[in-house]
Amino acid sequence: MLLVNASSLIKLLSNETNLEILSVLRSGSFNPRELARILGRDETDVSRRLRAMERAGLVEGRWVRIRGKNVKVYSLKVDGIEIRFEPGEVLISTSKGDRYEVPLLESRHPLVDIFVGREKEIDLITSSEKSVIVIYGIAGIGKTALAAKLFSDAFWYQMSEGDSLDYFAWQVGLFLNSLGYDALLEYLRAGGREERDIFELLLDGVEKSSAKIVIDDLHKCRDERILHLLAFLSEKLDKGKLVVTSREKPNLGLNALYIRLSGLSLKEAYSLIKAKGINVSSEEFAEIYQVTFGHPLALTLFSEAYDVGKEFKRESFFDFILSEVYEKLRENERLLLQIMSLFDEPLEYDEIRALYDKRNVFSVLHSLLNKGLIERRGNLYFVHDLIRGFLSEVREVDEAKLYSKYIGFLLEKNNARDFLKAFKYAVKLKDDEIIKRLVELRLRKFKRIIQDFPDAYLNVLSTIKDNPYVKEELANIYFQKGFFEKALRLWLEIKDELEGIHKADVLSSLVDVYTELNKLDESKKYLKELEKMKESMNDAEVDFWYFVELTKLNFYLGKPEEALKSAFNELKVVRKLGAFPEFESLVLLHMGDIHVELERYRESLKYYSQALELARAYSLSFMEHLTLFELSKAYYLLGDYKKAVEHAAGAGDYFLRVRNYRRAVDALAYRCFSYIALGELERAQNDAREMIRIAQSTGYPLGWAGYIALAAVENLRGGNFKEYLNIGREKLKEYPRLYGAVLKELERVFEVSKILPQEG
Ligand code: ADP
Repeated sequence: MLLVNASSLIKLLSNETNLEILSVLRSGSFNPRELARILGRDETDVSRRLRAMERAGLVEGRWVRIRGKNVKVYSLKVDGIEIRFEPGEVLISTSKGDRYEVPLLESRHPLVDIFVGREKEIDLITSSEKSVIVIYGIAGIGKTALAAKLFSDAFWYQMSEGDSLDYFAWQVGLFLNSLGYDALLEYLRAGGREERDIFELLLDGVEKSSAKIVIDDLHKCRDERILHLLAFLSEKLDKGKLVVTSREKPNLGLNALYIRLSGLSLKEAYSLIKAKGINVSSEEFAEIYQVTFGHPLALTLFSEAYDVGKEFKRESFFDFILSEVYEKLRENERLLLQIMSLFDEPLEYDEIRALYDKRNVFSVLHSLLNKGLIERRGNLYFVHDLIRGFLSEVREVDEAKLYSKYIGFLLEKNNARDFLKAFKYAVKLKDDEIIKRLVELRLRKFKRIIQDFPDAYLNVLSTIKDNPYVKEELANIYFQKGFFEKALRLWLEIKDELEGIHKADVLSSLVDVYTELNKLDESKKYLKELEKMKESMNDAEVDFWYFVELTKLNFYLGKPEEALKSAFNELKVVRKLGAFPEFESLVLLHMGDIHVELERYRESLKYYSQALELARAYSLSFMEHLTLFELSKAYYLLGDYKKAVEHAAGAGDYFLRVRNYRRAVDALAYRCFSYIALGELERAQNDAREMIRIAQSTGYPLGWAGYIALAAVENLRGGNFKEYLNIGREKLKEYPRLYGAVLKELERVFEVSKILPQEG
């Protein structure tokens, strides 16, 4: 018999003490007391652990009689456990054949405990052919309950106000990835941000895996693009399924089935309060029904407030009943409810325990759950929006203290999502000190947020106007999005208000943006300032920024030797910073580039290979393929065309897959020219055609070089090349430098003068 679920099993196994116990048990059977002695631990604690592991089927206990007494002796029950990752779930099996299943979707699902009625709606939904189902109606009317009842196997996405397309897409990408569809996640990991691509990949993934997605509380969504995405899906979905709940009716086109929920029928309402253990006469019930209109949340609360023979006010029934319920709560229950109502996202049990900070949290929480005041989703607990609204009027807890405490927990979790949440609360607190600290943390630790979730971060930041640290971050996001002038203005505005790492960040950004804008004198000026700061600060992070900018500037100034020197310094510092393999491999890649610039191709291979190795070791796929491309180019320059083809192939496929067409064409071009060198004209022709196809659909000009390649191929075959050449020249007319560069690269493998018209 299995008495625990798989996640508890994994929890048991991830505990060091438990593992110690298990490994001791390998050598024989032990009584808890002896085991405790061996391990130097408390006997009760060891017994408790053994019992938990017994329930999980890991150990087995049996009673033996020793000197007239019953003594429990434990031994290992299994000698191995296998964990397998399957689409949508993790399977765990023990060597004894016990199996555990962990549906990965479970934890976010609302728990449907008592559910009554709604037969008509259920019929409508289950018999409908439509791929999109919209359930709408007022708060507390039962939208979530209905969706959860019907779609327990769906991916559950709880919408919140700060949500943005980038974050949403990432979560769905992860989910699709668990179903075996990785294209969306790969695209996002590679930095892809095009709305159209995201829409198409998401659709493709949902269709291919026949995924079901529930979006709960769509009315909270403030990102237009998510709404556009849903409208797009609504128009195209066929095999997949999208279920939306919302207070207002969203417009998802004609392909959706719209269901407006109203109160439960008289009969349904009656069975609901019955199920909650209330017995009333039919007259009394008729009156209750009249004031509640069958609103399930109101009925649930009514069951709590119910006292025999009590009168109910009809006006503002909901608030009235809530205050009735609230009056009856014990002090501790009120306190916990007030605390939890401060947060607009579900909380974990551990978080609740720490925020509440009293011993009886478990029983208080469960009592509130039973009273219908708190709801549960997996291991998350929250207060229904409707009740939260009421509580905000009676609340007496110290908000600021609780929010700062919560920020602390979130930061301990050490991931981007919780960082963003923490920031949201810092903004609520309007505490400049905390905001400053968080921005510093973002600069040092959560560097990728600017690339991965720029819009989610923007949403959080944009509610605060006059804070220099917020402006610093806004500018960082604008810069990342390519709005250089806008970023520049902000940085200049705040630069003198900041100090320390913040100032250094702004200075290095100024160098960067002026370099991008090709105003190198300004770059030099700010680099000097940064250098001064670097010397006084003694902070590896700042050292790194300084050397990055120095390398870049020197490279732009046409001083590759200087750039190389500073790149070595970058490498030294980045290793000191530790834990940033992506920067380390990027530095190595740049060092390869500088060697290419210096025409030391062999040397460049060395750095590219190191970058590749690092990227692979840390599964940095974008970096890995970038390096493969650079390797291909270096081999091409060295005249090793076989190797050039090999490396370009991997890069080209990847960039096509993640829809980075600019880089895909770069890789295809080198492969195409290499094929020409190898005399594999058929293949060269295919690549050239692919380049042209990409140019046609994206307008990326290098793609037109496909025509020049076709001309070369035709020439080698003795055919008519002139037309290809003319089209190519025509298309590249506006890009003379690019055209020149293409001919120069082609010249290495083909005598270009054979196809060029004799000018002059
Ligand atoms: P909404 O999503 O419309 O705001 P919920 O689905 O959260 O509403 O429902 C509010 C409360 O009423 C929840 O506690 C829920 O469990 C309960 N409830 C809703 N519908 C039913 C039902 N058909 N049977 C039993 N309880 C229900």
